Amino acid sequence: GDEITADMIDGLARKHFPMCMRHLHESLRRDKHLKHHGRLQYGLFLKVLGLSIDEAIVFWRRSFSTMQDDKFNKEYKYNIRHSYGLEGKRANYPARSCQQILTSDTPGSQDSHGCPFRHFSSENLQTGLLSMYSSQGLGASDLLEVMSYVKNGHYHVACTRVFEITHSSQGVKKGDGVGNGESVTHPNQYASRSRELEK
Ligand code: SF4
Repeated sequence: GDEITADMIDGLARKHFPMCMRHLHESLRRDKHLKHHGRLQYGLFLKVLGLSIDEAIVFWRRSFSTMQDDKFNKEYKYNIRHSYGLEGKRANYPARSCQQILTSDTPGSQDSHGCPFRHFSSENLQTGLLSMYSSQGLGASDLLEVMSYVKNGHYHVACTRVFEITHSSQGVKKGDGVGNGESVTHPNQYASRSRELEK
């Protein structure tokens, strides 16, 4: 995609990120830190979104605002470069798909990674949805429908419905999904479709 900079991420998160990434972003801002799986899930998503390695280092360095430079350079910089294929076996790691996020590395209570539709309690999910998406038109009256998909284990459908509701002012209708009736299968697909609709 287009290049993005560290400075753009707060704004992009508010307007275009699916709930899993929105939650990681807010956790990072609140705690000034993310645990390993969270850094991986969020970092690879940001890479595919268009954050260059230089901007990624700026972003993470600033985000871990209470950490000393020395610790950051020793313990974190290598891993960021590694996820960009610049260290170790130099693999080009893709960002995780919904399927991978839903089924691997189940988060514990201290973790921020995973899929909120699957891994949050029903109460936290509903509170989180309203706090993150009410400014984009998601209301309490939408929760019953979204939660009915969640209860049946249709997490992608719930996420897709949230996408449709929060993009209805851009002409997205129920059943349109992220384009051509497709449901959400990848967090980057969600974000790039959202950005496309803004143009
Ligand atoms: Fe993220 Fe996919 Fe879950 Fe949506 S369904 S919150 S994009 S993991």
